[in-house]
Amino acid sequence: MTENELKQLADLLFPDVIKTPADMEEMFPPRKLPEGAIVSRLAPSPTGFVHLGNVMQGLTSERLAHQSGGVLFLRVEDTDAKREVAGASETLIEMLKHYGIEFDEGAALDADGMICDKGEYGPYKQSQRAFIYHVYAKQLLLENKAYPCFCTEEELEQFHNEQEAEKANFGYYGRWAKWRDRPLSDIIDALNAGKPWVLRFRSEGSIEHKFKYNDLIKGEVDITENDIDHVLLKSDGIPTYHFAHAVDDHLMRTTHVVRGDEWLASLPFHIQLFKALGFKLPKYVHIGTLMKMDGTSKRKLSKRKDPELALSYYKKEGYPTESVVDYIMTILNSNFEDWRRANPTAPLDDFKFSAKKMNAAGSLFDIAKLCDVSKNIISRMTAEKVYDEVSGWASEFDPEFYAEFSKDPDYSKAVLSIGRGGNKPRKDLAVWSDVKGYAGFFYDKYYNADGEYPEAFDKATVRTALEKYASVYDENDDQTAWFEKIKDVSESLGFARETKEYKANPVAYKGHVGDVSSFIRVAVTGQQNSPDLYQVMRIIGKGRVLARIGNQIDKLK
Ligand code: GLU
Repeated sequence: MTENELKQLADLLFPDVIKTPADMEEMFPPRKLPEGAIVSRLAPSPTGFVHLGNVMQGLTSERLAHQSGGVLFLRVEDTDAKREVAGASETLIEMLKHYGIEFDEGAALDADGMICDKGEYGPYKQSQRAFIYHVYAKQLLLENKAYPCFCTEEELEQFHNEQEAEKANFGYYGRWAKWRDRPLSDIIDALNAGKPWVLRFRSEGSIEHKFKYNDLIKGEVDITENDIDHVLLKSDGIPTYHFAHAVDDHLMRTTHVVRGDEWLASLPFHIQLFKALGFKLPKYVHIGTLMKMDGTSKRKLSKRKDPELALSYYKKEGYPTESVVDYIMTILNSNFEDWRRANPTAPLDDFKFSAKKMNAAGSLFDIAKLCDVSKNIISRMTAEKVYDEVSGWASEFDPEFYAEFSKDPDYSKAVLSIGRGGNKPRKDLAVWSDVKGYAGFFYDKYYNADGEYPEAFDKATVRTALEKYASVYDENDDQTAWFEKIKDVSESLGFARETKEYKANPVAYKGHVGDVSSFIRVAVTGQQNSPDLYQVMRIIGKGRVLARIGNQIDKLK
């Protein structure tokens, strides 16, 4: 086509577009940031499904941007109206905030919780950016780098079948690119006939050409040039991901594109597209997919099979957000775990995040590991904080437990303070829901009156020990005096005062002080394991300790 014809075509297809790329450059000028400042973004699709991948990409972009004194923004990629769910953008923003990912700019929530734009580089919802994409579409037409294609679904399917039969590569290229070189008159006829069209990129690439590209995580990757005339605008004028990515990340002045490595296959096309549009290529950080062990083999975490892929899962199960974030950091940066061990309470911002320390292959996601991380994190929290978190979680997900737990906050905080503080805090809790199993016995509703005593002793022995103990128990005893009394009871019943005495001569005794402690523990807590019994009894209080023991004595008759 002649230059004149190209102009005619561009005006025919985009009669309303009067702005030019130069106008866009002026509207969205380069950011004024110090040298080395990274501009990164999270660009999720509002499908209503917020997942670990969003947090992994979000944390990576957030760290890279903020660590360098740059900018992090949120762009909502809602070009696929079929997949969009009402309220999904709002949920997404709230959920990411919950995981500590806050944006400097982009789609945001206003005071009424409504979605709004914050910043100078918007709109930040792709569905509101059609006028911008069309400026570049028109430009590409003028430069003969794009053309309209009127092929029907049936025709495209037929090409696909032919390619399959010929064992040729799939796609719109070569002799299948039916509209690539059509005269203007054909295009005008098709338009006059009201046929729908898409805008295709005119690829000048060849699969014979290979080159190297440096990804910030994957390192040097081999690229084969793209020779497919991919779609840039769909028949409704909405861009494909590829076109929107190039236009948006250029105009929003993104320096680093952090995204899932499922996009690596499209990189040759993106490189080509940025060049055709005259844009500087950003740096790419392609994050490997999360994997899990399934039996003895690894597979990708799947939305359908693995509930743990959804962020809502962690909320419902009661994982502290700090634990999820710390665990994801261990997945993202290979040196994070060592750093955390050396700096157990340091804020995340003190860690030097680096794309170089990221795993090029898919990382393994391991719930057991997450629980270990979480136990450490919870063990360092104050009882106050744990109380608040457990209350928050239980009020939403276990109202029955919440009613007991929140009845007397000081009592529950005393329960949670057992074994807290000091160098070796207890590590009983990985999730908020663990509190019920670990400390339920502190609440009469969850105390098990049918606890099992050590099998080796008959009822009468246990009963006598409990009777004797109840008669000497004094809630004002300090820990030493308290234990002396259990030893006294033990001795009076023919049990060894000390475990080592028993071990030296087991036939001489019925058992040892540990066994008698066990009887008391089962009577008071309903279970054979509990945190420090002395503290437990102090918190439960004299009245209930004696009531529980008395009740057990009756049951043992
Ligand atoms: N909407 C794309 C996705 O969710 C964004 C990829 C990107 O970050 O560029 O996969």
